[in-house]
Amino acid sequence: MTKSEDPFRPILLRRPVFEQMAAYTYGALPQEACGILIGQGNLQDAPISVSEFLPVPNTAEDPLHHFRLEPAEWTRLLLSKRGIIGLFHSHPSSSPEPSREDLADLQAFGGLFSIYLIGTPAGTGTEELKLNAYRVESRMDKDERGLKNTILLIPLTFEILDAD
Ligand SMILES: [Zn+2]
Repeated sequence: MTKSEDPFRPILLRRPVFEQMAAYTYGALPQEACGILIGQGNLQDAPISVSEFLPVPNTAEDPLHHFRLEPAEWTRLLLSKRGIIGLFHSHPSSSPEPSREDLADLQAFGGLFSIYLIGTPAGTGTEELKLNAYRVESRMDKDERGLKNTILLIPLTFEILDAD
C-alpha cells in the first residue's frame, strides 16, 4: 500500500512502555487493567509516538468484565498532564477487540484521545501481551434530531521501538 492510499502512520511504542502495560495487565488479573497513554504526534504528518503509560485504578462495578477510570485520578491527570494521547485497557479473557460497552463508553470522552489500545494476556506463561491498536475517529452523522457526533475505532498498526 502506498503512502497516499493510507495516510495513517503506525503508532510507535517504546518497548519499556509496552512491557509496563503488560506487567500492569498481569498484575491486575483477573480484573481488567486500564490507564492513560502520553505521547506526541498526530497520526498523519508526524507519527504518534507513545512515551509513557500511566496506570489508573479500575473502579468499574464489575471489574472482571469492564473498566472505568477512577474519576478522581483521571481528572487529576487530565488537568495536570500534557500530551495525553490515548487510552489502554485489557481484556483478561476475551480477544483484544473493542466491546459494545467500550464503544458506548467512548462516545462520552473519546474525543480526548487519538489512539486506543487493548491488550490480552497471550497465555504463553510469560508476561506477553496480544495488543490491538486503533485510531479514534470522530464523525458527524445526521439523524432525525440533527447532527450527531459518533466516535469510531479504526484498526491501526503499531511498531515496538527497542531503543531511542
Ligand atoms: Zn474493553
